[in-house]
Amino acid sequence: MFSCWLSRLCRGLSTPTRRTTQLIWSSASRRLVRSSQRRIPELSSFVARTNTCGELRSSHLGQEVTLCGWIQFRRQNIFLVLRDFHGLVQVVIPQDESAASVKKILCEAPMESVVQVSGTVISRPPGQENPKMPTGEIEIKVKTAKLLNSCKKLPFEIKDFMKKTEALRLQYRYLDLRSVQMQYNLRLRSQMVMKMREYLCNLHGFVDVETPTLFKRTPGGAKEFIIPSREPGKFYSLPQSPQQFKQLLMVGGLDRYFQVARCYRDEGSRPDRQPEFTQIDIEMSFVDQTGIQSLIEGLLQYSWPSDKDPVAVPFPSMPFAEALASYGTDKPDTRFGMKIVDISDMFRNTEVGFLQDALSKPQGTVKAICIHKGAKYLKRKDIESIRKFAADHFNEEVLPIFLKTNENWNSPVAKFIMEEQGLELVKLLETQEEDVVLLTAGEHKRACSLMGKLRLECADLLEARGVVLRDPALFSFLWVVDFPLFLPKEENPQELESAHHPFTAPHPSDIHLLYTEPHKVRSQHYDLVLNGNEIGGGSIRIHNSELQHYVLATVLKEDVKLLSHLLQALDFGAPPHGGIALGLDRLMCLVTGAPSIRDVIAFPKSFRGHDLMSNAPDSIPPEELKPYHIQVSWPTDAETEKSSLNHPCRSES
Ligand code: ASP
Repeated sequence: MFSCWLSRLCRGLSTPTRRTTQLIWSSASRRLVRSSQRRIPELSSFVARTNTCGELRSSHLGQEVTLCGWIQFRRQNIFLVLRDFHGLVQVVIPQDESAASVKKILCEAPMESVVQVSGTVISRPPGQENPKMPTGEIEIKVKTAKLLNSCKKLPFEIKDFMKKTEALRLQYRYLDLRSVQMQYNLRLRSQMVMKMREYLCNLHGFVDVETPTLFKRTPGGAKEFIIPSREPGKFYSLPQSPQQFKQLLMVGGLDRYFQVARCYRDEGSRPDRQPEFTQIDIEMSFVDQTGIQSLIEGLLQYSWPSDKDPVAVPFPSMPFAEALASYGTDKPDTRFGMKIVDISDMFRNTEVGFLQDALSKPQGTVKAICIHKGAKYLKRKDIESIRKFAADHFNEEVLPIFLKTNENWNSPVAKFIMEEQGLELVKLLETQEEDVVLLTAGEHKRACSLMGKLRLECADLLEARGVVLRDPALFSFLWVVDFPLFLPKEENPQELESAHHPFTAPHPSDIHLLYTEPHKVRSQHYDLVLNGNEIGGGSIRIHNSELQHYVLATVLKEDVKLLSHLLQALDFGAPPHGGIALGLDRLMCLVTGAPSIRDVIAFPKSFRGHDLMSNAPDSIPPEELKPYHIQVSWPTDAETEKSSLNHPCRSES
């Protein structure tokens, strides 16, 4: 069960630094020399064991060892399997009269009780070796045993944890953490963060600076959590990211900052979101976009787990406009094709009403994707649900075209597709027998975004039917660049909002457009995408106070008073600077292949932002709210019902 990955993981841990070395030296010098020579960490220093369960091999034969761990199995009162974080080992329960007390302890302790055993490492009798177990050649002949803590009946078996509902796992998270998967995920995370620190601090002179979590409301961006203060009507906010502080650190001459930073956004959880999450937050002075990109490529290459295929650098880049046009998203999954193709020109003189209608509007287009072998793998009900999705979510029509033979178009639009058009379609989309073409029409961005969603949906459907589209071992990094600086607000398209955040610098050659046609300005913002997930984003910043003031006040119509400290700082000799933040939870989720970011966080929140183990958030008695000068205004039953209707699919996990 504990396969060799954990040993690899443990071997891969870095050697202690010199400072740590000195500290350890005084107490365990012999072990340290051994461990530093082998460049493996000392796993049993300072504690009541000589070895870990998982490390014992034939090379330890004859050694007297003391082990501490949890009882995983017991077989016929003869064998115990003892488990610790490092692995499993078989323990032979003594049967002779003289060891009756040891036998009693080991036979009576319930499963998952914690015991300490001492004894000798012996070989298993010939034929009884277990090649599936890294410790399968040996066993421990026990002489003494101590019950350190007995375990009551568990709500679930540790080895079955994946089969349990996530709500149950989160309720008993401390038990869930004992599972192989959670141990692996958290240890790999720790190891990667360590390597990142090493790369940033030791190889590139970054300074790890902690920034406040009690902060104030900032304009734009995500919704913030607020924290009451004892001053009437005054609140702190939890920062969505250390953005302002990291820029201020550059003004303060820190030059290269990084932090494993906790960020807070009051947006509710999704499979790839949590209300509190962790960023590898970075800022540098005197840097340009290429500098930040090279730094991150080096960082990921350096910290990448050795049991995965190495990261190839430099990562490819794609302009935002191309990402949208070809993949319908700013985070394209480039592991497979099925790109969106603009086929508007083919239908300029069409008789099909909805195509005609779409093309007559500004930015009107016809878009298509070709699903290779779609006719073989997609069922009628799949196509129906695709069309329903398009109608429900985009208010758009999607037409399927089944290509039975190159001349025979089986589709509601088939009769309007002339022979040349058919050939053109085959050429543009590279369609083959058994392919299905999905076609839609509408405003460019909307049509692309719909097609982008259908592209991913179809990929999932094909993969569910056994087609291999995306290699699970492949990590496909991509820089998305050349974003617009501003985007029209969804709720009011006449107004603009920052595509990244308001501190992002315009592209140097577009600055003049800021004052005339701000929607045309390109930015110096870059996103890092991995396998279709945004795992990082950053920008070169505005370091000129006047320009920053103009963007905030005139373009974004924000209250500049909220940012007067930053504007003032930019006036006092701010160096040009830029940075990036990597979403550590998402990155780890992709690296470990976990189904959700909750699986790479020790104590995550549920979908509704609850801690199911401790029941946070919890109520506070009114007298405890008094010092904060706040009172709860309880919702009426109707309001409560309305809010639960707004989140119909949110179950507790
Ligand atoms: N603070 C930004 C974010 O959280 C990242 C950056 O611009 O460095 O997205």
